[in-house]
Amino acid sequence: MMRRKNGNKRYFTRMGTRKKVHTFVRVKPTDDFAHEMIKYGDDNKSIDIHLKKDTRRGVVNNQQTDWSFKLDGVLHNASQDLVYETVAKDVVAQALDGYNGTIMCYGQTGAGKTYTMTGTTENYKHRGILPRALQQVFRMIEERPTHAITVRVSYLEIYNESLFDLLSTLPYVGPSVTPMTIVENPQGVFIKGLSVHLTSQEEDAFSLLFEGETNRIIASHTMNKNSSRSHCIFTIYVEAHSRTLSDEKYITSKINLVDLAGSERLGKSGSEGRVLKEATYINKSLSFLEQAIIALGDQKREHIPFRQCKLTHALKDSLGGNCNMVLLTNIYGEAAQLEETLSSLRFASRMKLVTTEPAINEKYDAERMVKNLEKELALLKQELAIHDSIWSSLTCSSSSSKANRTLVNYDPMDEIQIAEINSQVRRYLEGTLDEIDIINLRQIQEVFNQFRVVLSQQEQEVESALRRKYTLIDKNDFAAISAVQKAGLVDVDGHLVGEPDGQGFGLGVTPFSAKPGKKSKSKKTFKEQFSSSARKEGASSPVSGKELDVSTSKTQLTPSSKEGDVKDMTIRERETSSIEPLPSDSPKEELRPPRPSTPPPKPVAFEDFKNERGSEINRIFKENKSILNERRKRASETTQRINAIKREMDVTKEALNFQKSLREKQGEYENKGLMIIDEEEFLLILKLKDLKKQYRTEYQDLRDLRAEIQYCQHLVDQCRHRLLTEFDIWYNESFFIPEDLQVALKPGGSIRPGMVPVSRIMSLGEDAQDKFSQLQQVLLPEGPDSVAFYNAKVKTEQKHNYLKTMMGLQQAHRK
Ligand code: ADP
Ligand code: MG
Repeated sequence: MMRRKNGNKRYFTRMGTRKKVHTFVRVKPTDDFAHEMIKYGDDNKSIDIHLKKDTRRGVVNNQQTDWSFKLDGVLHNASQDLVYETVAKDVVAQALDGYNGTIMCYGQTGAGKTYTMTGTTENYKHRGILPRALQQVFRMIEERPTHAITVRVSYLEIYNESLFDLLSTLPYVGPSVTPMTIVENPQGVFIKGLSVHLTSQEEDAFSLLFEGETNRIIASHTMNKNSSRSHCIFTIYVEAHSRTLSDEKYITSKINLVDLAGSERLGKSGSEGRVLKEATYINKSLSFLEQAIIALGDQKREHIPFRQCKLTHALKDSLGGNCNMVLLTNIYGEAAQLEETLSSLRFASRMKLVTTEPAINEKYDAERMVKNLEKELALLKQELAIHDSIWSSLTCSSSSSKANRTLVNYDPMDEIQIAEINSQVRRYLEGTLDEIDIINLRQIQEVFNQFRVVLSQQEQEVESALRRKYTLIDKNDFAAISAVQKAGLVDVDGHLVGEPDGQGFGLGVTPFSAKPGKKSKSKKTFKEQFSSSARKEGASSPVSGKELDVSTSKTQLTPSSKEGDVKDMTIRERETSSIEPLPSDSPKEELRPPRPSTPPPKPVAFEDFKNERGSEINRIFKENKSILNERRKRASETTQRINAIKREMDVTKEALNFQKSLREKQGEYENKGLMIIDEEEFLLILKLKDLKKQYRTEYQDLRDLRAEIQYCQHLVDQCRHRLLTEFDIWYNESFFIPEDLQVALKPGGSIRPGMVPVSRIMSLGEDAQDKFSQLQQVLLPEGPDSVAFYNAKVKTEQKHNYLKTMMGLQQAHRK
């Protein structure tokens, strides 16, 4: 329906290229590798299995002794890094272009599925596909500033045909009221009730991953779930909108990373209860997975039995279809496991027959579309109105006018038309074209557009010409200015320094110390100067870029004054003192009056706290606050002064202009090429110079003050937080935690292993810091990439420790 001449081609759905499911085998490293039985092809893409006659009898029933499996790659003794590069990298990369991707690990328990998918969370180097995929996604987002890309994640566990949200423990999720269900809609399949979490950075995403992993482990203890009997699906959802608002298309994609339950055939005989139930469910779901896959591989099949079990149903739009699909089969390399290895490889080779047809998931942003259409409509209406008026004024009503009108082109301009208009505008500006014909509204708008384009190009040209000749200094870059002044190369008010108000008050580069009447050519503007010196070929400028290496970049804060340093010091001292842990078992505690039966209301207790144990921190808090207020007041006064100076500068400038025009009217005097000005004008010039100096000093002060205010504000916030935290601890200790328990918790008391002393419960931040610094030493060889990973790890652990401690305390209290 829509015309989209300049539509972004990248976004057009590419269909029709069928692709095989990529299958890989990863062999778990072992010292006891069955060299006799397992052989790899030279190309690392095939694996041959040979069963010796004697072992065969007990293992398989048929007569076959040799099998050969062709795959897309055999990973033997491969690092996690190589596995990721081989198996996942392309799938993840393509997800950012809108292709769904699924990577599954299949194999018997212990063969390395979880190691491959998640890896170890303790060691960055051994992290698996999940964290690496997250890293790649965020890295690629950084490389695409043209798009606003959001990332969400969810973590689902399927155990005995029930769905569990591995991220439901997050505080903002809350326990779900109804059980989760799999829902299908035209957009695809989604799991109702499964929490999906927006993450804007790597570290948050890692935290979610670790949260899920922790929950997986906890659940295996508390719910007696065998984690190797469940399927886990970590999903990364990507949504990319162009930052060009007129582009109403956007893309979505999912990356499903699936850690399947152990594929070993579980003997039903003899097992009962839970084990039997597990065995039944796993055998069923994996065989349904296989059925679905076989059906997918058969192009003639219309119906794919996705809904037979939760696993295939949940993955309905991620198995085959329009996805990039990868199956990684984890096997043991030992002879004892050969039967299961064979069965896993057979699964892989069946999977290899499946073809998919990857396609981009492209959607339309309805809101943007409406806005664009509205714009288009408004433009067309205006266009029509113009034509109506032109035609009614030019022609009498006749049938020919109507016929002509149909020739009007309402299409948006294409690149050639725009280039033509650009050339017209240039010629018009040069004077080689007298006028630009008006054709229609769109063309008029484009003419204006091109005026702007040409103008800004010319500005840039002028600027770069200037830069070639002069060193331009940011007018707020006082360090650079003073460097130039120190070098004695330019006057305090020289052009090159720039004016505080941005208006060139051109006094040339002659120092002010020059006597009145000796000023020469001092009234030239900067532009005039430039053009005149530019005209003189080879004339050297007073301050050339070569002589002075003064940065032209944005303003930097100059080093603070001596006084500033002193101020800084006092603040820093205060900061440290406010951070130092307060003695939690000070003698005051021992003297505490007997505990009341009902705790006092918090506001009352808070007042007490501030006078008692919190007095020191409260004092620091108040002191910092008063410093902050004082600085704010000073900043406001300085601002007022700056405004006053600015006003005075304006008045002086006006007076100077008046003097100048007067002088010009009366005829200028020149003496040996020097301009002569009268005393009044000279005094005004001096005054203005003085005002500018004041202005700069004040401005510098204001900037220093602002930095200080920001810093103080931070301190005040920190103190406030500290005060409240300490209060909470004190309140709990004083009125809730039993005294005998407090004794046990004190240093030297009978602290249970794994418990955090009560004074430290709330100050986990410091523990984290310690742990983090320790970790940093470990991870330094791994480079800064690992910081987010470890940060997230520490935070997740901390949270769980804290919860554990709190639960312990509550239980102790109840007893
Ligand atoms: P699965 O999830 O398939 O049951 P795991 O991933 O839990 O198996 O692996 C079982 C054990 O073997 C774990 O201790 C794991 O760290 C280790 N392991 C598996 N694969 C490898 C490998 N390629 N390199 C080193 N250790 C491995
Ligand atoms: Mg596992």
